[in-house]
Amino acid sequence: MRVASTIAEMRAVRRSLTGGVGFVPTLGALHEGHLSLVRASVEQNARTVASVFVNPTQFGDPADFDRYPRDTDRDLELLREAGVDAVFLPPASEIYAADDSTFVEVEQVTEGLEGEHRPGHFRGVATVVTKLFNIVAPRRAYFGQKDAQQLAVLRRLVRDLHFDIEIVAMPTVREPDGLAMSSRNALLSPEQRRAAAGLYRALQRAQQLFSAGERDGERLRGVMREALGGEPLAQVDYVSVADPASLREADSAGETALASLAVRIGAVRLIDNAILTPHASREMT
Ligand code: AMP
Repeated sequence: MRVASTIAEMRAVRRSLTGGVGFVPTLGALHEGHLSLVRASVEQNARTVASVFVNPTQFGDPADFDRYPRDTDRDLELLREAGVDAVFLPPASEIYAADDSTFVEVEQVTEGLEGEHRPGHFRGVATVVTKLFNIVAPRRAYFGQKDAQQLAVLRRLVRDLHFDIEIVAMPTVREPDGLAMSSRNALLSPEQRRAAAGLYRALQRAQQLFSAGERDGERLRGVMREALGGEPLAQVDYVSVADPASLREADSAGETALASLAVRIGAVRLIDNAILTPHASREMT
């Protein structure tokens, strides 16, 4: 496995890779969720490139950026074991010049949810992913459904800027109690970790109600709020039931809906989501 830390090195490695390249961008502190993306890429492409880069421009809060877990040695070991051909591991100075003046803004799908609660977040994501796509030049890129709005933003980015890259979405990998795997879970105390399972229970409640025929957006949001209300450690940022394509809040849901939520437990902000369908997927039962 080759490890490149400059753009010049990464481009040289890329030129040496023949066949289609699958790409898995990450912030590192890897877990089974990330590895499910890597495994899919290794299976579906001649070569796989991963990146590990804690992108400063997608963090609004500098304390959140400082606190973000980092474990490069372990990450490299896991990527090697998973069969990755090359890892791009740049310092921030390689990706951003002090006088950088070009940024990528995706409109519409960034208006609500994370976009509303984390101003500038998706500008940072769209800008760094554009840079990484230009450096790595993949045929496919793998992203998790765990970050549903990010996925919608990147699909729009690829469509609007005519990147010849297929975006592949992978299902959310969960802990046995339903908590979505996240690098941030490592920051939770045991008591907070128990409370964090409440996010999944809230999504399950919404799915149960949806399966029973409820389509009223406010009632579906209400049941999620109610479920989270039972967790005194959980402070709700938002709960949402939105149209899965436009991500606009649904007054009345259609055949499917995107239920999502963001919750603070102590200093740790967690997000999760589920596509509500008339018949619950195995993941949501
Ligand atoms: P991150 O390092 O958090 O930016 O995540 C890198 C990629 O892994 C993103 O496409 C995430 O959506 C995806 N990812 C993170 N957590 C999970 C999970 N629990 N299951 C599936 N994919 C995930």
